Amino acid sequence: MLTQQQVLEGRQQWLGGGYRLFYQEPLHVVRGEGVWLYDHEGRRYLDAYNNVASVGHCHPAVVEAIAAQASLLNTHTRYLNDAIVEFAEDFLTEFPPELRNLTMTCTGSEANDLALRVARQITGGQGVLVTRWAYHGVTSALAELSPSLGDGFEQGKNVWLIDAPDTFRRQGAFAAGVERALEEMKQAGVKPAALLVDTIFSSDGVFSPEPAEMQRAVAQVRAAGGLFIADEVQPGFGRTGSQRWGFARYGVRPDLVSLGKPMGNGHPVAGLVGRPELFAEFGRRQRYFNTFGGNPVSCRAAHAVLQVLRREELQQNAQRTGEILREGLLKLAARYPVIGDVRGDGLFIGVELVSDQRNTPAPELAAFVVNQMRHKQILISATGPAANVLKIRPPMVFQPEHATLLLETLAGVLADMPA
Ligand code: PMP
Repeated sequence: MLTQQQVLEGRQQWLGGGYRLFYQEPLHVVRGEGVWLYDHEGRRYLDAYNNVASVGHCHPAVVEAIAAQASLLNTHTRYLNDAIVEFAEDFLTEFPPELRNLTMTCTGSEANDLALRVARQITGGQGVLVTRWAYHGVTSALAELSPSLGDGFEQGKNVWLIDAPDTFRRQGAFAAGVERALEEMKQAGVKPAALLVDTIFSSDGVFSPEPAEMQRAVAQVRAAGGLFIADEVQPGFGRTGSQRWGFARYGVRPDLVSLGKPMGNGHPVAGLVGRPELFAEFGRRQRYFNTFGGNPVSCRAAHAVLQVLRREELQQNAQRTGEILREGLLKLAARYPVIGDVRGDGLFIGVELVSDQRNTPAPELAAFVVNQMRHKQILISATGPAANVLKIRPPMVFQPEHATLLLETLAGVLADMPA
């Protein structure tokens, strides 16, 4: 096995400059099981951050499904194969009845990229509305509408940025922003293609607006001729507790839904769900072939994840355990005024750290907490435009005893924080 130093140097030497590591002292992980990660020296870390290994690291049912299909056949979608049909039929029962088609991809980026292509073709428009600190993926088209990429972000010319529904600081700004952006588009002669939002606003700082605000925004976009694309890469698959999909919490129905991260529990499988007439029109004009998207191994992996999610009632667990976590965090907030806000749904939680009564963001403190937690073997991270919102987003097999361990450890870290 390579030493930690060799891995670090190897990355620097061979991987190039685009990569980033977590933590001041990076973690060298060799094995995962359930909510636990194990480092190269056998130490165990409570993973309270990974929303990809959503049904738990290395879930045996998922591992078994992948291994069985990989030893039988793996090929692309230009041959007939049972796996994709069996998965699609079952999976689509999880969506509102008008969303009855699934195109499979390998990544959330590909799903969003396809969603944009479909939306632009169907509407004949080019304009896209996204939130001010959004992240939607790695392609050049998506990089132009992912402002959270930071200094290197170059806003696309048909891209309008709107305020996230910041329930802590600026209630109502989101729907008002959509209205304003649509008006500006009109004046600029740009026809809207879509409103594209991560329905938990993860990179914007984790927000869940009032349903009425989301409904208003979606209705405005539709009235202007655009589609509503729900990016469920982060909140999907029951993580928000009360519903399978983030959008369902607002009583809105998307035209297209992009999926990824937890869909294969780490196996690269993703997809775009939508109304059949949209795909039919798109398909009349062009074809879509994704070499690895929808291969039988990916389909078996995704199907196994879905079955585990149902069998182990992980959405219900996300709701129950998420509630325990939020209650504990609110108690800490009462003791430590640096906690300005505790928000989120289910096992998707944001804890906003502030440095004074005017709620000035406290990014240094967030970095201190994240790194101290890592030293105490609990993994979380920080998000938002100022990177001052602790992001707690564990595998959905997270139990009350794990919540207690996290809360006790966080209490210790807050007690130690620099003045
Ligand atoms: N949308 C959102 C909201 C995401 O968080 C991400 C990944 N962080 C993506 C899309 C892109 O997914 P992928 O990395 O699988 O391409």
